[in-house]
Amino acid sequence: MEKKYCTAVVLAGGSGKRMGTKVHKQYLMLKGYPVLYYSLKAFQDSAWIDEIVLVSGAGEEEYCQKEIVEKYSFSKVHKIVAGGAERYNSVWNGLQQITEKDGFVYIHDGARPFVTEELIERGIDCAKTYKACAAGMPSKDTVKIVENDQKVASTPDRSRVWNVQTPQIFQYALVKEAYEQALSHDCSRITDDAMVVEAYGNHGVWLYEGSYKNIKITTPEDLEIGEIFAREIFGKKK
Ligand code: C5P
Repeated sequence: MEKKYCTAVVLAGGSGKRMGTKVHKQYLMLKGYPVLYYSLKAFQDSAWIDEIVLVSGAGEEEYCQKEIVEKYSFSKVHKIVAGGAERYNSVWNGLQQITEKDGFVYIHDGARPFVTEELIERGIDCAKTYKACAAGMPSKDTVKIVENDQKVASTPDRSRVWNVQTPQIFQYALVKEAYEQALSHDCSRITDDAMVVEAYGNHGVWLYEGSYKNIKITTPEDLEIGEIFAREIFGKKK
């Protein structure tokens, strides 16, 4: 497959309110390493990724530089930039640091430690064809749309419902322009990057096969599951 210049924007600017810990979820330890270490390691080791932009919490840039980037020798991290109040602000701050305008950008939640080389490769394969794609898996559960009082309003056909993950991969110019447009509108409902391109990119977004193990560490039970996955996937290597 022909190589394209790829930058990974790894997001670690969240406050982790749903985890209920003082330490932000991306710095919590999983089998001896911070949660954030795992995804940075996957991108560092990937043949497809040329450069990493790390988006940290505001004021945490130096901590990330010393305790993550230097400590684990993540030489592909060229920039550490402070995130914003919401995820989309953090993505925007990261996108602005990209210098190679002719490539692809992988936008990834630093709270998803189990991204693999296989997933990174499936992603670029899809992005080269469609220019805009996101990892996802078919929903195992039936999904309900509810009213404010939790009365069920409707039930989408489960065979067409997918849970969306990251990496989400875009041609750089496409996602940058879509974000530029979005930022002059109401962004309060934006929870992923595909949404931005769907609404403002004038371009479709395709899903490629992610993994049921590519979980986001959000609540305490995710950490318990993450411990098992980390042991299983990385146990033999370390
Ligand atoms: O909040 P959510 O679970 O959607 O966060 C997904 C990812 O986005 C996490 O890795 C988190 O650190 C990051 N994030 C961010 N800046 C924010 C909010 C979330 O970088 N303001």
